[in-house]
Amino acid sequence: MITIQLKPKKEESLQRFHPWVFSGAIQRIEGTLKEGDLVKVVDSNRNFLAIGHYQIGSIAVRVVSFEKSEIDDNFWNKKIQNAYAMRQSLGLVAPNQNNTYRLIHGEGDSLPGLIVDVYDDTAVMQAHSIGMHEIRETLAKAIVANVPEVKNVFYKSETTLPFKADITPEDGYLIGQETADLTAIENGLQFHVDWLRGQKTGFFVDQRENRSLLERYSSGKSVLNVFCYTGGFSVYALRGGAKLVHSVDSSAKAIDLTDKNFEISFPNDPRHKSFAEDAFKYLNNLHTLEQKYDLIILDPPAFAKHREALRNALKGYKRLNAKAFEQIKPGGILFTFSCSQVVTKEQFRLAVFSAAAESKRNVRILHQLSQPADHPINIYHPEGEYLKGLVLWVE
Ligand code: SAH
Repeated sequence: MITIQLKPKKEESLQRFHPWVFSGAIQRIEGTLKEGDLVKVVDSNRNFLAIGHYQIGSIAVRVVSFEKSEIDDNFWNKKIQNAYAMRQSLGLVAPNQNNTYRLIHGEGDSLPGLIVDVYDDTAVMQAHSIGMHEIRETLAKAIVANVPEVKNVFYKSETTLPFKADITPEDGYLIGQETADLTAIENGLQFHVDWLRGQKTGFFVDQRENRSLLERYSSGKSVLNVFCYTGGFSVYALRGGAKLVHSVDSSAKAIDLTDKNFEISFPNDPRHKSFAEDAFKYLNNLHTLEQKYDLIILDPPAFAKHREALRNALKGYKRLNAKAFEQIKPGGILFTFSCSQVVTKEQFRLAVFSAAAESKRNVRILHQLSQPADHPINIYHPEGEYLKGLVLWVE
């Protein structure tokens, strides 16, 4: 294994178990490295610090071990066992009630660069680093060997890996094959999941608990789910007894998925309607009180993917939330989210606060929401906190 030596004083973040080495911290690379290789990182006095995957870019090393471990099959097996044991202990592995959960959440599970979501007997794996891409077969074997429910592993990294001429990730099954009629079950509700064509790994597993909370507040209400994607929040609202549910997404494909999910749980239920339309356009067209809603969900895609986009993203959140404050009925409830990693919860709250002030309505915070336990945040890697939400009472 090739050694990377850091500049003086650049070892401090690793000593506090932060799992990244930035390229600017490197003094010397002692040999010829390929991207994705495992490297040993030492401080300026050559004391051992960590072992990680090397990659060209601002994050040069993603740490997989802070110990002098042997990085063999057994090492990866243990990591998967550890992640699975936690999900099991938390009651997330409950085949009839919940067969859908995130098994590996990157840094949150001490596996930077790796995301794995489980849907019934299939694991969908995404590599975000070359290192994880290189060992995809080993990881797939480790998943099947250690997660008894999983028989198939689908690899979906065409869009998540940095562009490199010499790696051409192809989406496909690494182990097993497509299971006919697979449905994801979340809190007893069934969903069709399309990881071949869908976004992320096919379903937004991270909103499970927030959807449950919404269900509790839906009884007798008119509900608008904006940015609905596969209609997760909408299906929960209807189970919660909403009097009507409208789902809006600009993607016709997403609306098809939403309709499919209603066919599974509430076939031909006249209380649900879906609209393939732009969020702002839809919200702008609610003119009378009758057209307005008791409960609105705003769960847009990440407005800022990079720090440079932060200012515009905050403006976007403000504008969107201002629209919702304008269009929600008195005594309404707003579920509003941001999944942009670079937007902190304070910044998001400030954007929503500005929107509320503009509307001049009396607004109370009922809940401050976050990501669920199967998307854990490594305490040494606060960057892992990405999902934030507010539930507001709007007078
Ligand atoms: N709430 C969803 C996840 C939302 S993902 C869930 O619980 O599963 C974001 C969605 O916003 C995507 O489906 C995308 O198609 C949609 N979208 C992006 N821009 C939009 C716009 N301007 N208007 C409406 N929908 C939009």
